This record gives sequence, C-alpha cells and structure tokens, in this order.
Amino acid sequence: MSAPHPHDFDLFVIGGGSAGVRLARIAAGHGAKVGIAEGRFWGGTCVNVGCVPKKLMVQAAEYGEWAKDAAAFGWHLGEATHDWPTLVRARDMEVARLSGIYGRMLGGVGVQTFECYAHFTGPHELKVGDRTVTANRIVIAVGGSPIRPDIPGAEHALISDDLFTLQERPRRVLMIGGGYIGLEFANMLHNLGSEVTLAYRQQLPLRGFDHELREVAAESLAASGLTILPGESPVEITLSGETRIVRMASGKVVEADAVFFATGRKPATKGLGLDAAGVNCREGAAIAVDDDHATNVPHIYAIGDVTDRVNLTPMAIAVGHALADTLFGSRPRHASYENVPKAVFISPPMASVGLTEEEAALRGPVEIYTSRFTPMRHTITRRTDRKTLMKLVVEAETGCLLGAHMLGEEAPEIMQGIAVAVVNRLTKAQLDATIGIHPTAAEEFVTMRVATRRVGEGAAKAA
Ligand code: NDP
Repeated sequence: MSAPHPHDFDLFVIGGGSAGVRLARIAAGHGAKVGIAEGRFWGGTCVNVGCVPKKLMVQAAEYGEWAKDAAAFGWHLGEATHDWPTLVRARDMEVARLSGIYGRMLGGVGVQTFECYAHFTGPHELKVGDRTVTANRIVIAVGGSPIRPDIPGAEHALISDDLFTLQERPRRVLMIGGGYIGLEFANMLHNLGSEVTLAYRQQLPLRGFDHELREVAAESLAASGLTILPGESPVEITLSGETRIVRMASGKVVEADAVFFATGRKPATKGLGLDAAGVNCREGAAIAVDDDHATNVPHIYAIGDVTDRVNLTPMAIAVGHALADTLFGSRPRHASYENVPKAVFISPPMASVGLTEEEAALRGPVEIYTSRFTPMRHTITRRTDRKTLMKLVVEAETGCLLGAHMLGEEAPEIMQGIAVAVVNRLTKAQLDATIGIHPTAAEEFVTMRVATRRVGEGAAKAA
C-alpha cells in the first residue's frame, strides 16, 4: 500500500474571527502545522464590527448620561455636547490595535496566515486567494452576516456593520428589530443625542429572555425617551430627498434620516464551495455539526456562528479552544452550551444566566425571588428610567439555583459571578450563607430571603 499523500497543513482554518483564531493558536501550540485564511479583518465581527466597537460606543453614550446626572451631586459641567468624529477616531484606533494583535498573535505561534478568502475545491483541498492548499483537517469558522429583510426599498436601510463607518451621527433614526442589536444600537444612539424610534414585531423585545425582564427593559427604554413601536414590522422603504419613509404593516409611517435593520444574522456560508467538499447545511444555511463539531464529512468541522447555536463570542472561543485540545492536544473535551451567561448593553444593562421563570416552571415547582429598587445613585438624581430588577429562579425541591436575571446598573459585571453559582448548581442556601458587600446592588443576590411567588406546581418534571 502506498503512503498517504502528505498534506500542506495538519489543520486549515477558514475564518480569522473569535473561534478560528483561538482554534488556530491553540492547535499550533499543540504542535500542529496550521494555516488560516481571513479575507476581511482579523478578529472578525466581535473585534471589528461588533462587541468591541459597540461597547466603546455604549460607554461613550453613558458618559453623557453621567454628565447629566452629575449636577444633582453638585457638579456644574456646563452643557454636555458630543463630538462624533472624536469618538469615531478613538474607537477606530482601538479596534485597529486589537485587530493587529489578533493577526500578530497567530504569526507569533507559527500559524501561517493568508489575508484572503478561501473556498473548497475538494474535501481536502482549498483555493486560498490564488493558491491551492491541502489540509488533513479543515475547520469552517466563517461566522455570520446581518440579514436584510426582502422588502421594497431595503437598499435604503443600513445594517449593523454600517454603524461603524458613519462619519456623522444621524439625527433621526429608525431601528428595526427587538433583539440584542436593535436595543443596544437604539439605546446608544438615543443617549448620544439622536431622535430614535425602535420598532419590533413582538409585543415585547428580546424574545427568549425572562418575561419580567423583557417587560422592565421595554419600560425603562420608553422612560428614557425612546419612541417604542411594538407589534410593527416594515413593508416598504421609499426615499424623499435624503429622508427615508418607512411604511409598517399596520399602515403606520415613520420618517428617519437613517434606518437600521437589526433583524438577525445568518451563517456566512455563501461562496465557501461546500458542495465541492460534500458538506451539508441545516435549514437556514447553518452548517450541520454533531456534538464534536464534525460535519457530515468526518475531517471537516465547523465552529462559531456558522453553526448557529449560541452565537456569542465567548462561546465561539470556548468551542474553538476545546476542539484544538481534542484534535491536537490529546485532551478530548467539549465546551458546554448549557447555562451560557448573556448580557444586553442597554441603559441600564441586563444580564441573565440559566433558565427563565417560564422555562423553569415548565419543568416543575420553582420559587421565584425578586427585588426591585431604585439604585442609591438615583435616589439623588431622581431618574425614573434606571430602576433595578433582580431575580433568582430556584428549584423548589432541591433549593438549586436554576437561573438568575438582572436589569440594572452593572448587571453584566454582577452576573458573571452569579453565573458561577448557577453553572455549578449551588443552592439558594449557599447564596444566603454568603455575606453581602455593602452598600452594593449585588448584595441583593445574597439577601433575598422571602420568595415572591411559587410557580410550576403540577408541571411534568423534565427527565
Ligand atoms: P436577534 O436574533 O437577537 O434579534 C432579531 C430581531 O429582529 C428580533 O426581534 C426579530 O423578531 C426581528 N426580526 C427578524 N426578522 C424580521 C423581519 N423580517 N422584520 C421585522 N423584524 C424581524 O438578532 P440581532 O440582529 O439583534 O443580533 C444577532 C445576534 O448577534 C444575536 O442573536 C446575538 O447572538 C449576537 N449579539 C450579541 C450581543 C451581546 O451579546 N450583547 C450584541 C449583539 C449581537 P422576532 O423576535 O419576532 O423573531
């Protein structure tokens, strides 16, 4: 029998975003010969047109709110005005710095980088720019891209990527979509001074989050001065000069200088040549993978948003790292998709981990602990749009923590710690035995003594 044909690489990764870069770096550290292709920017969506620049802009917007609040504490700062180009320059410098680190990090551990797109020409063969390379294993980590609804005039609307190239802040904005991006962008642009209307097709935003939290999020956004249009979706966009005129299914018309579609994202599989490799997709273009992230072609894997499972950066990084350890580090392991903490960076932000009240009640009896209060700062500022809601979902029979939810200042920072308790199935009694840090909002999570309600009686206990 002849020896197998040696491939150019042990591993070739398509896509230099959060998942691909981590996988490539760790695999190279385990001794694999690794190549990676990225056609747009190192670091992918998160670093360049997602989490990082978004969070910097949310922080910029928040300074304005603090400046407004400062007067109640005796500060006289004059009228707060915002200079968009200054923010754009500072944001873009930081994004370029981080993206550069991602690219250099790969070279530093011996990964061969290709700054171009790659597509399959066979099960082990790829066209990478104008080169043909072969690899023993190939991992698809190409992420996703924003969805633009198919309505007349859709081309007059922007998508999330476009926010990061705007040279000036639009005066009137219509944000369409009640998900993470819709809420975060609407809230941030409103706080930076735009007149923002947020339209979503459900009665409440953030489908999938705890119902009570969704209600409070909508209330606080409305209280902050955003115009909210629930139960609305666009059917047509026309132009009148530079003004976008958006007609909703209800007949309502909204005029804006900029319209954003924040209507979800889809896996970026177009142009990958999956047919040439025989890789199957699920409905919606997501690549179908098993629990080991293998596709139907055993040496081809897919990780991150292209698999459309939990589309969050830390999840993609965890999966990429686990796959590298499994394939090249003699350490087979999986990253768990259970109890993934998540946050929405609105004002105040919200964060959740584990089961919602509704999900838990379907599985059996649960005790719900809630605390609603005005944060100490706002007893002085007298703001009414920054109330806090904190909530624990506790299994009645065992006292185990099933979920934790919060809308309030610093919620994402607080939830990261509480997530450790939920992931490890600590009990409410163990939280109670922990002394609070006073005075903080976080201490409420260890001092909620009396259940607000008990739900889920009679529900079939999940197997
Ligand atoms: P989401 O899936 O979160 O929300 C999409 C929204 O658009 C929903 O409200 C959906 O309504 C609505 N929608 C979908 N199609 C249409 C349509 N044709 N007309 C009107 N409305 C429509 O997607 P996003 O784009 O906000 O974000 C994409 C993903 O990126 C998120 O799911 C998340 O995984 C990630 N992300 C995470 C962030 C974070 O961690 N903080 C921040 C930003 C993004 P309905 O509910 O009815 O389907």
